[in-house]
Amino acid sequence: MSYDQIDVPEDGEQITLVDEETGELNVPETPIIPIIYGDGIGSDVGPAAQKVLDAAAEATGRSIAWMRLYAGGSAREKYDENLPQETVDAIREHRVAIKGPLTTPVGAGFRSLNVALRKKLDLYANVRPTYHLDGVPSPVKNPSAMDMITFRENTEDVYAGIEWEAGTDEVQEVKEFVEDEMGFDNTIHDGPVGIGVKPITEFGSKRLIREAIDYAIANDRPTVTLVHKGNIMKFTEGAFRDWGYEVAEEEYGEDVLTEDELWEEYDGEQPEGTVVVQDRIADNMLQQILTRTDEYDVIATMNLNGDYMSDAAGAQIGGLGIAPGANFGHGRCLAEPVHGSAPKYAGEDKVNPTAMILSGREMLDYLGWSDAADLVRDAVEQTISEGTVTYDLHRQIEGGEKLATSEFAEAVVDKIDELA
Ligand code: NAD
Repeated sequence: MSYDQIDVPEDGEQITLVDEETGELNVPETPIIPIIYGDGIGSDVGPAAQKVLDAAAEATGRSIAWMRLYAGGSAREKYDENLPQETVDAIREHRVAIKGPLTTPVGAGFRSLNVALRKKLDLYANVRPTYHLDGVPSPVKNPSAMDMITFRENTEDVYAGIEWEAGTDEVQEVKEFVEDEMGFDNTIHDGPVGIGVKPITEFGSKRLIREAIDYAIANDRPTVTLVHKGNIMKFTEGAFRDWGYEVAEEEYGEDVLTEDELWEEYDGEQPEGTVVVQDRIADNMLQQILTRTDEYDVIATMNLNGDYMSDAAGAQIGGLGIAPGANFGHGRCLAEPVHGSAPKYAGEDKVNPTAMILSGREMLDYLGWSDAADLVRDAVEQTISEGTVTYDLHRQIEGGEKLATSEFAEAVVDKIDELA
C-alpha cells in the first residue's frame, strides 16, 4: 500500500491475518510496525521505547521495520488535521502498532483523538495490566500483591461522545424530550444544563466480557470480576453485569462458574482449572483493590469505571510512569501507555519511558514474541531495582542514580544485551 505522506520502510513485511475467528496473525521476521510518538512527552518516550524494543527483537533473532505515523500536533503540522485518514488506514492495514499520548484540550470543540482512533478501528478492548516490578517505589505496604489485568470496554458508555452543550437548541430539545415525552419532570434543575447519553449495549458488553474470560482461561487466572455501578444505574451498568453472567453461563460450560455456583456446588472450594465470574460494585471495588489486592485477577468493566480503576491500580504499583496498556479488536493491537502527554515535561528528556516500553512489551506478546517480551520486562525490572531510574522514581527512593529518559532507555538496552 502506498501513502501520500507516510514513508513505508523498504526492509519490512506486512503482518497479515491468518484466521478471522481467532485473530491469529502471520508475523514475518521483520514486520512493519507503525509508531505514533504523539504529543507532549510522546517525543521523549516514543524513541526511548523504540530503542528498547529494537534491542529485544534483535536479541531474539528478529527486527522491526518502524513506520512513523502522525496524529495530534505532528499531524497538524504535516497534514493540517488532527487524525489523518492515512494514519487510521495504515494502522488498520498493518494490524499491530504502538502510540504515545495525544493531547485532548478540555472544553468544547475538541473530541479526544484517542477515543476517535479506538472507535474508528473498533478496538473495543482496552487492556491494562497492573503488576509490580521489583524496586519500583509504591505508596502501599505490599505492592507485589497487585497482579491484575483490566479489560475496559472502549467504544461506548459516557465516552461515546453523545452529549449536548448547555445553552444550545439541541440540549433544550433533549431536555424537553426527557421531561415531556419520557416523563422525567422535576429531575433536571432549571437553568443551563449539559446533557450526555450513556449507551451500554448487550453486544458491546458481551464481546468485551468474552475477551476477559478467554484471557483468564488461557492464562490460568482464577477469577473474572465484573465491576459496575448497577445498584444506581440499573439499566446500563446493571445490564452489563447481567449480560456478563449470561455470557459466563451460556457460552462456557463447566469451566466457568458463577460465585453462586461456586458456593452451592463446591462449598467455596474452586476446582482447579476453572474460572469464577463474580461482580463488585465500583466504589467498593476501589477500596478492595487497596485492602484485598491479591483477591483480584482479571477485571471486566465499562469505559469510565475502567479508566478510573486502572489509574488507581496503577498508582499502587508505581504510578503513571509505569502503567502500560493496549487496545485490541478484530485481530488488531494498538499499544499505548496509560499516561497522557504531560505537556509540562515535553521535550525535556526527563520523564519515565517505562509505561511506553511496557506497552511495547504487550505488543511483542501479541506478535507471539513472548521471549522478547519477557526480556523487556526482566531488563526494565533489573534496571530499576539497581536504582538507575528517572526523576519520578528517584525522588521516592534512597540513593540511586537519576537518569534522563534516553539514558534510562540505554540502560535497559545494556541490560537486554547482558541478559540475552
Ligand atoms: P498526564 O498523564 O499527561 O500527566 C499527569 C502527571 O503524571 C504529569 O504531570 C506527571 O507528573 C505524571 N506523569 C505522566 N506520565 C509520566 C511519565 N511517563 N513519567 C513520569 N511522570 C509522568 O495527565 P493529564 O495532565 O491529565 O493529561 C495531559 C494531556 O494528556 C491531556 O490533554 C489528556 O487529555 C491527555 N491524555 C492522553 C491520554 C492518551 O493519549 N491515551 C491519556 C491520558 C491523558
